[in-house]
Amino acid sequence: MARLGSWIEAHATGIHVPAGDFWIDPALSTERALITHGHSDHARGGHGHVLATPETLAIMRARYGEAGHAQAISYGEKVWIGDVSVRFVPAGHVLGSAQIVLEYRGERAVVSGDYKRRHDPTCPPFEPVPCDIFITEATFALPVFCHPETRSEIERLMAALAAEPDRCILVGAYALGKAQRVIAELRAAGHDAPIFIHGALQRLCDLYRDFGVELGELRLATGLKPADLAGQIVVAPPSALNDRWSRRLPDPITAMASGWMRIRQRARQSNIELPLVISDHADWPELTATIAEINPAEVWVTHGREEALVHWCGLRQIRARELALIGREDEDD
Ligand SMILES: [Zn+2]
Ligand SMILES: [Zn+2]
Repeated sequence: MARLGSWIEAHATGIHVPAGDFWIDPALSTERALITHGHSDHARGGHGHVLATPETLAIMRARYGEAGHAQAISYGEKVWIGDVSVRFVPAGHVLGSAQIVLEYRGERAVVSGDYKRRHDPTCPPFEPVPCDIFITEATFALPVFCHPETRSEIERLMAALAAEPDRCILVGAYALGKAQRVIAELRAAGHDAPIFIHGALQRLCDLYRDFGVELGELRLATGLKPADLAGQIVVAPPSALNDRWSRRLPDPITAMASGWMRIRQRARQSNIELPLVISDHADWPELTATIAEINPAEVWVTHGREEALVHWCGLRQIRARELALIGREDEDD
């Protein structure tokens, strides 16, 4: 009998499935690409044919313009590509994010893309799918990464705002996913004042709203006097935290929403006064609990700290291997 998963080729530039002649999240442009979600390390422009959720296609259109032939697939819908059946199910990572379920000759493989198990008001939750091969991400695959409850991080943010009414809080958050999630979590915690955003966030915030995600009143933070922003929350991409743009803000408390804020040294190096451990990736307990729950025959590990997770699988008699995919983690945390 052929080795399990012999019909799936893992290349440095992505996962190729010859029986359907398609790639998943390829780093180079290909004739046919299946895209798990809109982050730039997974979704690139220039493919001939793209299959993705309607939300991911809209995100790709906003970032790369119209390109090639786009085919939308809803969560749960099944299509055949060549001899391979393909289904997208929620990954709980960002708006439109999906795991891709592949079935071929009686074997089932699930490509997780990026995922998390925490509640996220901006996308449906991760759906565990039993399978033979689970191809998992490993961004935070070390036991040190144990993310606190999101609600407690949002409460720390609101407490800091209340304690310093003459300052503003400048929150660094990635433009796709994290920014909208932080805004939606603030709303859920009862913060109903306008939230000010950097211009670079506007288009994706509008796109989230078009798909029904409530973000409350947002205002552009440009062209305002410092006094207008005292006591307010301003959300900006991480690149804007220490540039000229942020110098016009009234003595900002610089915050950053990222799983990497679990590492204090990392927060200090980037002059983050208020590190918020809010991640769109599974932490170590979530990664290991998910593998235990899905109980696959094999785990293929990509996207980060592969060795620890491969070792963990080995201790539990689960066959595991590292895939060395290039160019991951460009804008993910
Ligand atoms: Zn991602
Ligand atoms: Zn990623």
